[in-house]
Amino acid sequence: MRVSVDSERCVGAALCTMTAPGVFEQDDEGVSGVIPGSEDGAGDPKVHEAVRVCPVQAISVAVE
Ligand code: SF4
Repeated sequence: MRVSVDSERCVGAALCTMTAPGVFEQDDEGVSGVIPGSEDGAGDPKVHEAVRVCPVQAISVAVE
């Protein structure tokens, strides 16, 4: 899988970082991104939950 965050769409709600803190991080302005090295989802089943809870559908998961 390949996890990505659309930083243009992200509104900094922090739900992804609370749900899967091993995969997502936020910068100083609250914009979320994938932690370098965790683009494959880091084996965390909560990645899909993060996709679901993001209020602006900024998180994408592509199956490779
Ligand atoms: S849940 Fe969505 S809007 Fe909130 S920080 Fe994560 S990607 Fe951004």
